[in-house]
Amino acid sequence: MDVIPYATQSINEDDIAAVQEILTSGWLTQGPAGPRFEEAFAQRHGVSHAVAVSSATAGLHIACLALGAGPGKTVWTSPNSFVASANCALYCGADVDFVDIDPLTRNMSTPALKAKLEQAERGGMLPAVVIPVHFSGLPCDLAPMRALADHFGFKLLEDASHAVGASYQAQPIGSRYADASVFSFHPVKIITTGEGGMVTTQDAALARRLQLLRSHGITRNADEMSLQGPMPGPWYYEQVTLGFNYRMTDIQSTLGYMQLQRLDQFHIARERLAERYDQQLAHLPLKLPVRAPSDASTARSSWHLYAVEVVPGPGVADRETVFKRLWDERIAVNVHYIPIHTQPFFRARGFRAGQFPAAEAYYAQALSIPLYPALTDAQQDYVVAQLTQALKA
Ligand SMILES: *Cc1c(COP(=O)(O)O)cnc(C)c1O
Repeated sequence: MDVIPYATQSINEDDIAAVQEILTSGWLTQGPAGPRFEEAFAQRHGVSHAVAVSSATAGLHIACLALGAGPGKTVWTSPNSFVASANCALYCGADVDFVDIDPLTRNMSTPALKAKLEQAERGGMLPAVVIPVHFSGLPCDLAPMRALADHFGFKLLEDASHAVGASYQAQPIGSRYADASVFSFHPVKIITTGEGGMVTTQDAALARRLQLLRSHGITRNADEMSLQGPMPGPWYYEQVTLGFNYRMTDIQSTLGYMQLQRLDQFHIARERLAERYDQQLAHLPLKLPVRAPSDASTARSSWHLYAVEVVPGPGVADRETVFKRLWDERIAVNVHYIPIHTQPFFRARGFRAGQFPAAEAYYAQALSIPLYPALTDAQQDYVVAQLTQALKA
């Protein structure tokens, strides 16, 4: 039997045909496929502006810059995330710090955020940008976070890498509460472009700033130039800020547009599999994922990951053993995430183990088990049977 991965892309014949066609269309990059994907993505997420980028990491970088992160500023994020959620602050010359997670949702804890903000205010050290991460696709509790952003005067940037198509209080992620939202299209995520990402915002000026930063800081719009008088010629452009080449190709945009057509299908398949896991794993010594960001709010997860925690006890194997046994049975489970602040690079910057105990306790028992649209019921039953065995000490 083939290896069952924890996550994988879903590519069909239509995706292949569309990508093949774009290769001979005359446009490999900077053609019409980019805006077509951006418009479709914006419409699906109920937001007025979407800016496609070469990766979510690139999107986090330019979104941080556009929201004012820089030297002398601080950015806060969740320790239970991929390192890119923190690195984006450092790319801008800002400092980074973390807010511990809620042990049930595994997302940034709103009470912990509030307490840290009150303390930072007393010390005159409020963050410029806060980056909550919708871990596994379950939205963070955004309404109280928005209220804190308004009260304390920071920008709210969602790392929605896991949350394509998810919703909070019946509103699509990316459309409300945050100042900007960043999505990833890496192959393990909900839809893919190979590498790729999208930044969404309701703010037209911010979207324009993101477009400039994505493409070398270059403009061809006369009203953005310092030029006085008529244009020297049709070749003319001006670099008005320091930007990057973070563009998405037309090849990637075409694949993304095709994948977006199947987003609802992907969600339904993931949701159904998650419900089957909920039922079949209920009696095991496991802590299962929750469905709501808090008692007071509702959400629909995109189910990027199905992450469980091994509950230690008599007769229960430890997480390392469970992990190894599943790999031996060709089930490629994974662990998300090693708390960012415990990475050697961040320890060298002064962080240490013990600082964010909820993220560390979660990590110690965490296991991401296979979840992707093409996972069959038979494969899932095999995963459940093997996990049941593996958990026995
Ligand atoms: C995947 C991921 C990223 C980075 O996405 P890329 O598109 O690979 O750059 C950032 N944050 C989180 C939470 C992710 O899961």
